[in-house]
Amino acid sequence: MSRPVVVRFAPSPTGPLHIGGVRTALYNYLFARKQNGKLILRIEDTDQTRYVEGAEAFIEEACEWLGIQFNESPAAGGIHGPYRQSERVKAGVYRPYAEQLVSEGKAYYAFDTSEELNTMRERLQAEGSSIQQYNAVTRSSMTNSFTLSEAEVARRLAAGEPYVIRFNMPENEDITFSDVVRDSVTFNSRQLDDKILLKSDGFPTYHLANVVDDHLMNISHVIRGEEWLSSTPLHVLLYRAFGWTESIPTFVHLPLILNPNGKGKMSKRAGDKMGFSVFPITWNDPQSDAVAVGYREQGYLPGALMNFMSLLGWNPGDEEELMQADRLIERFSLERINQSPTNFDLDKLKWFNEQYIRQILSDEDLAHLVRPYLVTHQIEGISHDYLIRATTLMKDRVSFISEFVSKAQFLYKAPDHYDSKMARKQWKEQTPAHMKALLTAFSRLTDWTSNALSDVFETVVSEQGVGKGRMMAPLRLALSGVPAGPGVFDIAELIGKVETLTRIERAITTLS
Ligand code: GLU
Repeated sequence: MSRPVVVRFAPSPTGPLHIGGVRTALYNYLFARKQNGKLILRIEDTDQTRYVEGAEAFIEEACEWLGIQFNESPAAGGIHGPYRQSERVKAGVYRPYAEQLVSEGKAYYAFDTSEELNTMRERLQAEGSSIQQYNAVTRSSMTNSFTLSEAEVARRLAAGEPYVIRFNMPENEDITFSDVVRDSVTFNSRQLDDKILLKSDGFPTYHLANVVDDHLMNISHVIRGEEWLSSTPLHVLLYRAFGWTESIPTFVHLPLILNPNGKGKMSKRAGDKMGFSVFPITWNDPQSDAVAVGYREQGYLPGALMNFMSLLGWNPGDEEELMQADRLIERFSLERINQSPTNFDLDKLKWFNEQYIRQILSDEDLAHLVRPYLVTHQIEGISHDYLIRATTLMKDRVSFISEFVSKAQFLYKAPDHYDSKMARKQWKEQTPAHMKALLTAFSRLTDWTSNALSDVFETVVSEQGVGKGRMMAPLRLALSGVPAGPGVFDIAELIGKVETLTRIERAITTLS
């Protein structure tokens, strides 16, 4: 019987979650849903020196905004809790596992001071050794429970001397494991050192806590960034050392995300320089008062960002691109994750946002999203119905929800000024007479629709014997004040007869 799918997103709250982390969360989420499995949020906060206030809340808020839901988490609880490793340390979860390995000779106490460790490194460097680390070669000349007598170890422990517990890394052994993205991966243990499992402050390191928790939480698949690939041989050895070979998860290491120019791993620094954000939502750094604006605040839609991110390292194998959560879940598969790095392409993200506005969101949904921007612009008294109609007119012309108002204030109130360049170019000597003729004709119209307005306009244009453009541009200027926008008759139909006539009259007096 195959194993029930249980995956986890295991961020360390050492700062705000960035896009790479969000993609990891997303792939875990899509896979869990696809397989009817579970997704756990586990906070890996055992490195107290790197803990950043507010980072955990940021992670939870960012995932919630994007629609990534956890079955078990610090907030939601669950049978495998607690879900913060710091709380698990207090509950005494990890130490017994480290001690178990010591008693079996698979790990050991090391009492070396930092001076002793430095001396060892300097000596190896002086000898021209390319590797200067605590390992099978150096272990025998250091101060640890393999080199000290049992009585001396017991004495030091009883005296409360500081120590760490290190993994007894085999000297020369190939460690092979399979990775869904890379097939078979082999490391030789000579490349690895005797990693610390338990620190002198009694806290486990990432490696110990991560493996113990993945085992205790029955994690079936470890889906994480490529930067963890080189830690995996140690993790595999730990599973073997504990006798948990049956529960070794399937590994899935996600490809790197590169800067838009394809040069280098995507970073906040490059983002600041090249004009993109690495944060899903805005991060107010509690330590420096610095603010890093995220995609949410820039007006990106969560669905568009999710869709875009799903394709940073995965593709469905055909041309389908626009996929909402349900469709992504339906199509997602680990087998179609690419091995090669993927470029972050901001234009593409913007394109997705536009498509979500044009094709995916209903007019009803759009109107709800637009409403807060009316408030920002101090526009009052717009009915829901009217807002839906205005939104429909604009949706092919905007990239962001905010632009429904910022680019089309004239749909909600009369222009308070006219674009001067356009006025100079389009408002000619004859224009007042043309506009007066239009006013007369429009005021007789009872069927106030875009089509009827257009017909009347055509008639007036031919009566006046001028080119269409000579009257269309001034009319647009009168109604909107600006050169760009939806069709002029669509604007007139929306704002209504009285408002249209008032605006034309006003333009005649103001511009002539
Ligand atoms: N705490 C690690 C991180 O911050 C988790 C890596 C893993 O998923 O094993 O990314």
